[in-house]
Amino acid sequence: MAQQGQPIFILPEGTNRLLGKDAQRNNILAAKVLAETVRTTLGPKGMDKMLVDGLGDIVVTNDGVTILKEMDIDHPAAKMLVEVAKTQEDEVGDGTTTAVIIAGELLKQSEELLDMDIHPTIIAMGYRQAAEKAQEILDEIAISDIDTETLEKVAMTAMTGKGTEKAREPLAKLVVQAVEQVEEDGKVDTDHIKIEKKEGAVVEDSELVQGVIIDKERVHQGMPSEIDGAKIAILNSALEVKETEVDAEIRITDPNQMQAFIEQEENMLKEMVAKISDAGANVLFCQKGIDDLAQHYLSKAGILAVRRVKKSDIEKLSRATGANIVSNVEDLTSDDLGEAGSVIEKKVSGEDMIFVEDCKEPKAVTLLVRGSTKHVADEIKRAIEDAIGVVAATIEDGQVVAGGGAPEVAIAKRLKDYAESISGREQLAVNAFAESLEVVPKTLAENAGIDSIDSLVDLRAAHENSTTMGLNVFNGKVTDMKEAGVVEPKRVKKQAIQSASEAAEMILRIDDVIASSSEGPDPSQMGGAPGAGGMPPMM
Ligand code: ADP
Ligand code: MG
Repeated sequence: MAQQGQPIFILPEGTNRLLGKDAQRNNILAAKVLAETVRTTLGPKGMDKMLVDGLGDIVVTNDGVTILKEMDIDHPAAKMLVEVAKTQEDEVGDGTTTAVIIAGELLKQSEELLDMDIHPTIIAMGYRQAAEKAQEILDEIAISDIDTETLEKVAMTAMTGKGTEKAREPLAKLVVQAVEQVEEDGKVDTDHIKIEKKEGAVVEDSELVQGVIIDKERVHQGMPSEIDGAKIAILNSALEVKETEVDAEIRITDPNQMQAFIEQEENMLKEMVAKISDAGANVLFCQKGIDDLAQHYLSKAGILAVRRVKKSDIEKLSRATGANIVSNVEDLTSDDLGEAGSVIEKKVSGEDMIFVEDCKEPKAVTLLVRGSTKHVADEIKRAIEDAIGVVAATIEDGQVVAGGGAPEVAIAKRLKDYAESISGREQLAVNAFAESLEVVPKTLAENAGIDSIDSLVDLRAAHENSTTMGLNVFNGKVTDMKEAGVVEPKRVKKQAIQSASEAAEMILRIDDVIASSSEGPDPSQMGGAPGAGGMPPMM
């Protein structure tokens, strides 16, 4: 028991603890530092970052979430902002930098309010009100007439400044075609678009395949390398004679028995292959292995076979060709077969790949992304992933907003009007929220080497009677972004504002950070005396 005058320790030795203002300031600082890090990458003129991991592997990127994922971040509040970026990535696939810098700015602005002795709960409440209002305003300023051209513009905006400059337009067309192809009842599952990247060619050589590309080669050189009018069987079990599950010993006393035994195995494999060719298949994709002898029979039957195909690829093949995935070769019938215009083994930068092409109305397609080097191809792939995300979101929601900081300025303006209708100290928080959103046009200007104060003043003035005026970062002028074709899905902004605000509110409400020592609790202390309840001993 604690005795008078003696301190009470309820936490294990080595625990770090920050309380009250210290906790707040420390968390805010960490969030600000993190936002500052990605800030320079925002927009078409944003710079890239080179990240080098412990093994010396390099990633060169402009993509907010990629930077944050690759960085080894330790601070708990900073980690919360990384989560904001990840959520943004999962929900929309774009706008990750925007989300993080808005969150950082919200916290920065809150510091001034804290200095004025406004209670963090009041600030958090004001932020929540502002975030809700911002969503309403977004709905009001959203643009609803979406056609294929708009979709292409959305894709192009998402790819701006990401190493795709030379081929932005053709790539945008490919992305839109791909997304429209896999769309079903207004919903898009982006998993049905496979992105296969290979270095060694220029961006312009990227192509959309109406089917699936499998990064594998045919299993036997005797097999045809090209099949037109392909009838495709998909098997998710091995084409082998099963080994006995239990350890069994087969005693062979006579050479004839051995012969019979081998022949029986051969016959079983032969029958399996016969089953496939009788069904009418001339192509086989197998998720598991194919026995050497079966390979031989398959090539004799003129069947192009590929083994150990990834499960995800098997699913895409099934969607693209309409083939059923069959578990037991005995059950295979002609009804299970899928179709493709052709299945061809092609060399792509020195490696064989199987192209399952010209599928009719495929529900899965593949984008073959090319870039001169690995790092270029990687960055283009990320740009294309962003573009796929935004096109899908636009198709699903049917609404876009202008880019170049236009919606942020429009929302800020209306939020400031709204603030006046609020009594009490929350009003100050709503105003701070409005100003925080303006960090987006400010940063776009800074990164383009344009005076950010002037730009903001011009933008605010232009928004007296417009909601689509944004900053043209290429000439520094305030321009109608809708007319300039710089548009983004509404969902990007909706999600960015929502998650930035929630993260800021959560960080603001923290007044105690208790971090256990990195060594973890001493196991000898745990589960000791019954009734101790795992509590460290009190002194
Ligand atoms: P994020 O990770 O947030 O998507 P980006 O680096 O992709 O960050 O930058 C997105 C911002 O760049 C958006 O505010 C968008 O409106 C703006 N933007 C994109 N293209 C243009 C353009 N041509 N002119 C002005 N702003 C643009
Ligand atoms: Mg982007």
